[in-house]
Amino acid sequence: MLDRERLRRLTEREAAALDDRTPTSAAMFRRAGAVLAGGVASSFQAREPWPVYLARGEGERVWDVDANEFFDFHNGFSSMLQGHAHPAIGAAISGRYGQGTHFAAPTEDGLEVAEELARRFGLPRWRYTNSGTESAMGALRIARAVTGRHDVVKILGTYHGHYDVLMAGLGGSYQQGIPPATLERVHAVEFNDAHSLESRLGELERAGRAPACLILEAAMTHVGLALPLEGYLESVREITRRHGVLLIFDEVKTGLSIAAGGAVERFGVLPDMVTLAKALGGGLPVGAIGMSAEVAQAAEEKAVLHFGTFNGNPLGMAAARANLLEVLTPGAYRALFARNERLVRGCDAVIAEHDLPAHTVGLGSKGCVLQGTDAVFDYASHQRSQDPGLSRLTWLWFMNRGLYVTPGRGQEWNLSVAHTDASVERYLEAFAELAGELTVSPRLSGSARA
Ligand code: PMP
Repeated sequence: MLDRERLRRLTEREAAALDDRTPTSAAMFRRAGAVLAGGVASSFQAREPWPVYLARGEGERVWDVDANEFFDFHNGFSSMLQGHAHPAIGAAISGRYGQGTHFAAPTEDGLEVAEELARRFGLPRWRYTNSGTESAMGALRIARAVTGRHDVVKILGTYHGHYDVLMAGLGGSYQQGIPPATLERVHAVEFNDAHSLESRLGELERAGRAPACLILEAAMTHVGLALPLEGYLESVREITRRHGVLLIFDEVKTGLSIAAGGAVERFGVLPDMVTLAKALGGGLPVGAIGMSAEVAQAAEEKAVLHFGTFNGNPLGMAAARANLLEVLTPGAYRALFARNERLVRGCDAVIAEHDLPAHTVGLGSKGCVLQGTDAVFDYASHQRSQDPGLSRLTWLWFMNRGLYVTPGRGQEWNLSVAHTDASVERYLEAFAELAGELTVSPRLSGSARA
């Protein structure tokens, strides 16, 4: 059992230490309050009492505006799979800049990127967008147009972007501002439960509301990490095909980062569409929608429109091309995944040594330490395992030890190809030190250090 009083005192100490180390962030946040709604550019950036403002990044490191140095385990919610300021991507961007950055007309880089995505994901036709949200919006529009159906099925607890339809089923403030009529069109089922999917599809058909598509992450990334159980994705593929429901894999987080060809490659199940963003643009806002030949043909026959001034933007395409062809090479993936394995095994060892009620899950370049010993395989099991107080302390603890981790999340990480054994070791040391404080030491010892 966790000593709650000790947790409280440690959290207080670590929060005060982080506040002391980030006065310039505090000042910037005060300034931001006058001009940015809620003081931030995106609600995901908000944090009490203020966000930590970053000034620069290089390779596996970032520096905040107070010159605190961190190893980056956040990596822009996994967008920076290349590491920061990668020279190959920098060269591609500056080369492109000198030749013009935007025409709203196609360029050759966009062709090369699509050819490479088709090779990696086994889906032959592509369109570009500027974010994961736009990719999901586009995929849903296409799915609804080609099936002539309006309803959508998703997985309970999964975030696919700030698009009305897809914010449904997340509850609370996620649903503010969404018309009830939109929410009624979306039906959420639990992950890893093919039976409930099948029966929900049957119910919807009987009610005359057969859905256009099922959108899901083949491995759920918003619950730490929930891996698909043996046979689940195959069943989903078979059931959706039998019911005429298009299957969309949201690979905004898994695509490129858990295998060169994302979940499609890793789990060997081919959906009708995939959505990509995050790691695709090498740090620029680039998204993509991949389609089967059948979906693309039906969309063409029905003249489904998909617009976007910046779709296929030349600067983004130059970055994406260099990213896919020069940075995310087979050798880079091998080293990256081996390093992630080392981190996963190291966390397992810390857990075992301190007999913590926790377990580790890793996948490609990602991983997390989940609270509790029970497996997390869907939203309900994730909710049962949550300990927000411990998550908050863990975040503060890592931040105070030079490890930049995602605020407001559990203990999760996204590695980049720039990560080294040194940062992995630092992470493990910090975790072991925290585990020691929580389980053994009868009194608070040591103070937060950079
Ligand atoms: N899908 C998933 C799985 C995501 O995690 C996110 C963002 N966290 C999105 C879609 C939306 O992407 P964006 O923020 O680029 O719109």
